[in-house]
Amino acid sequence: MEKLLGIGEDLLAGKINIDDLKREAHQYNLYPESIYKKDGSILFMVKLKRTRHLVVLGKGVLLDEFEGDYILSNSGKICPLNNFNSKVLRRHFPFTAPLANRTNKTSIGLGDRLGLASPGHIKLVKEYDVFPVLAQQSIRELNLTGRDYKEVLDAASWAVFQENYQSGYGADGDHLKSFSEVKMALDCGFTMITLDCSDFLDSSANHLKEEELAERYSMIDKSVRNELEDRYLNKTFLVGEDLDITFEELDFMRIVLIYLDAISFASEIYRELISQVEKRVDFEVSIDETSFPTSIPAHFFIASELQRNDVKLKTLAPRFLGEFQKGIDYIGDMEAFKENFYQHFLIAKRFGYKISVHSGSDKFTIFPLVGDITQGEFHLKTAGTNWLEAMRVIAHKDIHLFREVFAFAVKKLEKAKAYYHIDGDPDKLPPLRDIRDEDLVGFLDNKDARQILHITYGLILEEKDSSGKYVFKDRIYNLLKDYENLYDEFLNKHIGRHLEGLMLERLG
Ligand code: ZN
Repeated sequence: MEKLLGIGEDLLAGKINIDDLKREAHQYNLYPESIYKKDGSILFMVKLKRTRHLVVLGKGVLLDEFEGDYILSNSGKICPLNNFNSKVLRRHFPFTAPLANRTNKTSIGLGDRLGLASPGHIKLVKEYDVFPVLAQQSIRELNLTGRDYKEVLDAASWAVFQENYQSGYGADGDHLKSFSEVKMALDCGFTMITLDCSDFLDSSANHLKEEELAERYSMIDKSVRNELEDRYLNKTFLVGEDLDITFEELDFMRIVLIYLDAISFASEIYRELISQVEKRVDFEVSIDETSFPTSIPAHFFIASELQRNDVKLKTLAPRFLGEFQKGIDYIGDMEAFKENFYQHFLIAKRFGYKISVHSGSDKFTIFPLVGDITQGEFHLKTAGTNWLEAMRVIAHKDIHLFREVFAFAVKKLEKAKAYYHIDGDPDKLPPLRDIRDEDLVGFLDNKDARQILHITYGLILEEKDSSGKYVFKDRIYNLLKDYENLYDEFLNKHIGRHLEGLMLERLG
C-alpha cells in the first residue's frame, strides 16, 4: 500500500510516466495492460492482499464517479470492483460492456464459474479471430455457485479492462427456460440468450405406436394440422446439393407432436422479449438437453417454422448423434457423427444461422470435423473444463487440499448426478489413500476423475462446517488468486488445444 501511494504521488507529480509504470508494473502487483489515461485521470488495476482494486489518480469526472476511499489528499481513490463501479466502468469504457456478435463467423462460449478465468481466456483469444462469450452461465450454474448475473457480467467487464481487450465480447444467459429468466438476463444487459426448450418438448411421442400416434396427433387443432400438412406432409425439400428431406406421415406426426409447443414457446419469447430490446441480441434456441438426437427432418421443421414466425436465430443447438458428456472426449461413431453434423450444418446454412455445439469442452476427436465442415462458422460452448483447470492449479499447488476436495467429490457424486448425466465412476479409480501425491496430479487427465470433479463443483463450493464457514471455497479462491498466472497458463494451454483442434488460425 505504501509503495502504491509512493508511485501515485510520483505519477501525479509527473516524476514518472505511464511507460515507466508499465515497465515496473509487476513489482507493484499492478496489471500492466490495465493502465489507462482518460479525462484527466490515470487509472489502473492493482492487487492488494489478494483482492483486485481499481486505482483512479487525478481530479476529474472519473474520480468523482467511481466510489472508493480517497487517497493522496483527495486527488486519488482506491475503488472496489463492485457492481456500482462496474456500471461506471461500462459507461466510460464502452468496450467493457458486452455486445452481440456482429463480425466474427466463429464464436466460443467460455463459461467462468468462479469469476477468475476470463483474464486467461482473453490472453488466448487475443491471438485468434474469434468472438469470445466471456460471461456465460446457466441458472443451474448460478444456483450451484451462489452467484447472480450481475456478478457474472461484472467479472467479465473487469477482466476485459484488466487485459485491455477491445475487440468485443458477449454475455450469454445460458439454458434459460422461462419468460422471467430471459427477462432477468436481458435486464442485466446480457447480449445473447440461449432458450432451452426442454420443458416444451414432448418426448413421449418418440415411443408411441402407430395408432396412439395418430390419435394424439388428431387432438391437435384441425386448422393447425391442415396448415402444417399443406406445408410439409409428403413434400420433399432440397437443402443444398447434398440433402433432400421428405416428411412421411408417421415421422411427420411424431415431429409435430414433439416440437410444436417448443416452437410456439420460442416464437413467443422472441416476439415478446428478444425483438423488443433496443440493442441487438443474439438469440439461440437449444433443443439439445434430450435423451434422443434431433432428427434431420425435425431440425428442418423447427427451422422452417421459426422462420415463418419471423424468429431471427443466430444459433441453434441440436442434439447430435453420440454422446457429449461433460469434460471428456466425444463418445460415439465418428463416421455417423460426421454425416449427421454435416446435414445439421446444411440446414442451419439454408436458414441463415449457425450451429451451436453444447458441452463442447474436450471433444478433441471431433473438433477437426466441426472446423472443416463449417469452415469456422460455428458457436461452441465450454464451461466446466475451465473449472477443471482451476482444480489443476489446486493439484499443483496444494495437494492436500486437492486430496480433500476429491474425496469429498466422490462422497457427493450421487447427489450431483441429479443435475448432470455422466458415466464417470469412482470405482474405476484406485482407492485414494493408495495414490501418491505425485500421481494424484495426473487425475486431471483421467476421464473418471475429471467427470467426478466436473459435476460436483457446486457441492464443493457450498460445503460449510458446523460454524458456518466454507470448507473449501475460500481456500480454493485464495490459492487461485495467489497463483493467477499459473491458472492463466493452464487455461491458455487447454483452451488453446480446443482452438487449434477446431483449426482456427492464429492472427499474424
Ligand atoms: Zn446445452
